[in-house]
Amino acid sequence: MGVPTRADLAGIPDYIIPGRPPGAILLNSNENSLPPLPAVVEAVAAAAAGGNRYPQWFSEDLVARLSAELGFPESWVGIGCGSVSLCQQLIQAYCAPGDEVLCAWRSFEAYPVFARVAGVRARTVPLDSGHRHDLAAMADALSPATRLVFVCNPNNPTGTAVGAGELRTFLERVPSDVLVVLDEAYREFVTDPDVPDGLLLARAHENVAVLRTFSKAYGLAGIRVGYCVGSPDVVAAVNKVAVPFAVSGPAQAAATAALSHTAEVNERCRAVAAERERVRDRLTAAGLSVPASQANFLWLPLGDRSADFAGFCENNGVLVRRFGDEGVRVTVGAREDNDVFVRAAEAYASAG
Ligand SMILES: *Cc1c(COP(=O)(O)O)cnc(C)c1O
Repeated sequence: MGVPTRADLAGIPDYIIPGRPPGAILLNSNENSLPPLPAVVEAVAAAAAGGNRYPQWFSEDLVARLSAELGFPESWVGIGCGSVSLCQQLIQAYCAPGDEVLCAWRSFEAYPVFARVAGVRARTVPLDSGHRHDLAAMADALSPATRLVFVCNPNNPTGTAVGAGELRTFLERVPSDVLVVLDEAYREFVTDPDVPDGLLLARAHENVAVLRTFSKAYGLAGIRVGYCVGSPDVVAAVNKVAVPFAVSGPAQAAATAALSHTAEVNERCRAVAAERERVRDRLTAAGLSVPASQANFLWLPLGDRSADFAGFCENNGVLVRRFGDEGVRVTVGAREDNDVFVRAAEAYASAG
């Protein structure tokens, strides 16, 4: 029997652990297909050599580097063990039991899980018919209990993004005592000039915070580091609830070193974006419906055929990520791997 956990824990969904069978092509976790740059690996090794010491408490060197890079004062930058950790910290810092977190659905699965772990209600607003955030409906859904709103832009898992105008209109409707968290985990892959840079909005609105990560564009998913940009109050609150030393020395060093190579990182991201369009064109030519994406993945709203399609891909050596009976998300990886996926998808589509 053992010691009973708190009563509501069993009702909180478990994370779906992505499969990694040996030899499979992994297009199921939105990872970068390229390993970190050699200078970053060297920085990690050098930091590991000092592993007997605790790391910097607030990742001060990385904060200084990001502050210079982004043009924000250091007090506006907070570091987390991946930006997923910062999502949790923001909920912990801003919401108490009885409060509400508002987010779109489908969006990032961690939002409602973290809310419920914190004893906070997660209110979800369906995406619109174009698989995009329905910001007007989200504004209508704000209630006096709402303390925090997540806007995932571009949205995981659909890849769709909201534009500057609609986001500004939304922000005008959000009360100043509600925090809007723009999760920009995929910002570096955006090519549509109408998708706003959240940092400009954070500068203009005290109740806007932006989350970014080194996991996707920088290819450091396994090293665990992300950051938050927001007013000093937000950063202080996030730091207050942080697990001490959660951001390891090697992670701090990796991110700091990576920031000296932004030109290469941006070039890699542009290549991924070009691949994204190539893959999407092939899929739509095969008759599959694929909304335009601004991220490093594509969404196939296959409905009740999702499991069948994902199984078909797996039998062809490619792992994709299925979300219930809604759809399948496929990461844009290396060109030859994408081609294996595209051939499987074409075969699936032509078999009807
Ligand atoms: C991947 C992802 C993150 C962050 O991941 P970390 O590895 O924790 O930095 C945050 N939000 C969304 C929507 C993501 O897809």
